[in-house]
Amino acid sequence: MVPLRAAVRLLMLLACAAPGLQAAAGDVEEGRREFVEPHMGTLFRIVLYAPPGVDGSAAAKAAFARVEALNRVLSDYDPESEAMRLCREPAGATVPVSTDLFSVLTRARNLAVASGGAFDVTLGPLTLLWRTCRRSGVLPDPVSLAAARDASGFAHLQLDEARRSVRLQRTGMRLDFGGIAKGFAADAALAVLAQHGVARALVAASGDLALGEPPPGKEGWTVALEPFGPTSGPPSTLVLANAGVSTSGDTEQSVTLGGVQYSHIVDPATGLGLTRRVAVTVVARQATLTDGLATACSVLDAARIRALVEALPEPAHVIVHERRPDGSVQCIAYGRPPASFTSSPP
Ligand code: ADP
Ligand code: MG
Repeated sequence: MVPLRAAVRLLMLLACAAPGLQAAAGDVEEGRREFVEPHMGTLFRIVLYAPPGVDGSAAAKAAFARVEALNRVLSDYDPESEAMRLCREPAGATVPVSTDLFSVLTRARNLAVASGGAFDVTLGPLTLLWRTCRRSGVLPDPVSLAAARDASGFAHLQLDEARRSVRLQRTGMRLDFGGIAKGFAADAALAVLAQHGVARALVAASGDLALGEPPPGKEGWTVALEPFGPTSGPPSTLVLANAGVSTSGDTEQSVTLGGVQYSHIVDPATGLGLTRRVAVTVVARQATLTDGLATACSVLDAARIRALVEALPEPAHVIVHERRPDGSVQCIAYGRPPASFTSSPP
């Protein structure tokens, strides 16, 4: 799979590798600036067009600082992050948390409820166990799997909005924001750019994009989709503005154990990585939703994706590419695209 990851690279290549075309297009590309920094275990990329008199570099610097601050809240690789400190509190303790942590937990819990737990940030004990198994090449033993399942599940997460506090009800609970943090951070970074006077901007965090106002003279940002990599044929393109777009898929981070290929997305029904070959792209108003929803729809079957998309309080467009055992690829789309959306089929 090379979903938006490749799409973003492709988008950037198109923009960088054709200076002649850019020049031919007059001043359309004038003022385009690009900034890249490593954050959250991936590269965050900002493309912006700053209006005259606005310092694009300072805006990008502030946006990256916001991402770094969010990483200190959400990371499960940093034992001192706010989330990991919360997980070390005794089970059942009422713990006041930051607005950012409470906001991500609320969005994540809402999606967990809506998806029947297909997307669930409290699967941390299972995702941690699964990470270990992917490294060791050995499937989890039944006792460890049962213990991890026992300490997982959003039913054991309690949020008190009035007091902005959290209660983790089970011993050994662990939060994993890997399926939502990059989208949330991309949205937050885009908001910082706007606060600095830069509305025409894009923030790309691997497979999660937050798109602001379009480049000057354009209807939107062109995003190319290659659900199963360049070998799956010419990419289809989406032209989007003021939207989030995410792709979740499995081939880049999959592992083969006992002849079976598993993804890094954990199926709560089995506690193991997914074995379906799916690449899911989601377009909605914000990347926080598209990030989590793409992960959820990777787990769910067609009927449950349809029900989930219909029940959401805001429009979302879900495109599922599934590779069948015979090698053929089936594509099914669900839901309504947001307003500023055009697409060209492959
Ligand atoms: P990527 O990290 O490739 O962008 P996703 O957005 O789909 O892909 O997030 C996958 C990550 O989310 C995993 O690496 C893990 O940390 C976490 N995760 C795995 N399964 C689930 C799940 N069912 N619900 C919520 N988070 C999950
Ligand atoms: Mg995701």
